[in-house]
Amino acid sequence: MSRTTTDALYLVTIVTFILALRFLSSPKHARKGNWIGAAGMALAIVVTLFQDSVGNYALIGIGMVVGGAVGLVGARMVKMTAMPQMVALFNGVGGGAAALISLDEFHRFAGDFSTVEATSVALSALIGAISFSGSLIAYAKLQELISGRPIVFRGQQVVNALIIGTAAALGVWIATGGDQQGLIYGLLAAALVFGVMFVLPIGGADMPVVISLLNAFTGLAAAATGFVLTNNVLIVAGALVGASGTLLTILMGKAMNRSITNVLFGAFGQVQTGAGADRVDDGRTVRATSPEDVAVMLSFARKVIIVPGYGLAVAQAQHDVRQLGELLEDKGVDVVYAIHPVAGRMPGHMNVLLAEANVPYDVLKEMDEVNPEFPQADVALVIGANDVTNPAARTDTSSPIYGMPILDVDKAAAVVVMKRSMAPGFAGIDNELYLDPRTTMLFGDAKDSIVKLISAVKAS
Ligand code: NDP
Repeated sequence: MSRTTTDALYLVTIVTFILALRFLSSPKHARKGNWIGAAGMALAIVVTLFQDSVGNYALIGIGMVVGGAVGLVGARMVKMTAMPQMVALFNGVGGGAAALISLDEFHRFAGDFSTVEATSVALSALIGAISFSGSLIAYAKLQELISGRPIVFRGQQVVNALIIGTAAALGVWIATGGDQQGLIYGLLAAALVFGVMFVLPIGGADMPVVISLLNAFTGLAAAATGFVLTNNVLIVAGALVGASGTLLTILMGKAMNRSITNVLFGAFGQVQTGAGADRVDDGRTVRATSPEDVAVMLSFARKVIIVPGYGLAVAQAQHDVRQLGELLEDKGVDVVYAIHPVAGRMPGHMNVLLAEANVPYDVLKEMDEVNPEFPQADVALVIGANDVTNPAARTDTSSPIYGMPILDVDKAAAVVVMKRSMAPGFAGIDNELYLDPRTTMLFGDAKDSIVKLISAVKAS
């Protein structure tokens, strides 16, 4: 295939990637965005296969069939709650691929590189290997193969600085013309160890933010590989992944009111000793309720705001909640869903979950849009959400979540919280909302409770 045809077709794929990102920015068009991106990627692969430099089609074919099958089966079988670890694994593979390509290129051409090529090889090996091992640790934490708690020890920062310093020095050596094979192996080894050490001290629940950051790393490693291989589509696609991963990381940090430094070095999720422990017993008590009482409350309400959280995903109650919402609407109740940007455990978790259950997009309201509606709501029905409703974020300066924007559920006339116990959520802190005189607790698994609520609403 001629260079001009290749470049023209690569340009088409670049346009599809940009369009895909555009469509992915709204849940309404996200599915279309995915298809457009996948079609662009398929075209990029076909065009690449037609290049003269590509040999051994049999080996490539075997790789594609095995890899494609693993991807297809993995994606079909993964549970919605396990999606973050799947993304971590796939992201790690991308970083690993970039590192392997740089290893291969170094073997073949070390000594003949231009400065740009040598620098690109070093960067692609460094960032790709960090992303690979870091993503595997993120996967292991989320899959509970290792403890999700931050693993910290004295002098950790110094050890980490020494490892990344060694990797960087070897990288500079390669970039400035070093061609001994030991250099690339040393660089890869140091970067792999750094990836592990970098993620170990970060708490399991912060992993989605880390994965988003490692995703940005993989993008940069891919872009560097693009320079090594003189492949424009790889440069642009890598830059797009790098930029979108960085933006997502920043947005997630903002929504949790945490700086990226705090996520990476704050060891969030260690056993808390202070927060909540010094709370005085002021005589307020938690009031439990029954599905029958809640059903009456909901049936006679004019406006109900449903607040989904991580517990809804754990209980896999999305289909039941849609059914409950429809039932209430049939009774003339105005039902909307309040979506907090970091409810659940990954960006867009609630949107994806509710979209899977075919809840119409126009009843899903983002935090800024729905917050002014709480004072008009008769009932805020909180299903498996905790931190994103905690008023301490507004009032308690000592709280780890102080300053995080929350859903104003406590401004509704009545609040019903559905969860299994008084256990805290991700931030590991008590929620004052449960002691509010307007709040009643419907204890139990969210799915069981909603099924009981549906029968009770039908009977009321
Ligand atoms: P939380 O983690 O604060 O709370 C979830 C609650 O769900 C728990 O208190 C738990 O209580 C309850 N729950 C668990 N399983 C069930 C079940 N089967 N049935 C009923 N309830 C259940 O979740 P939120 O969504 O409110 O907040 C998300 C948190 O995660 C925030 O702190 C956010 O910063 C953090 N985070 C979010 C990310 C994202 O991208 N979305 C990324 C990283 C962190 P109980 O055990 O008593 O049932």
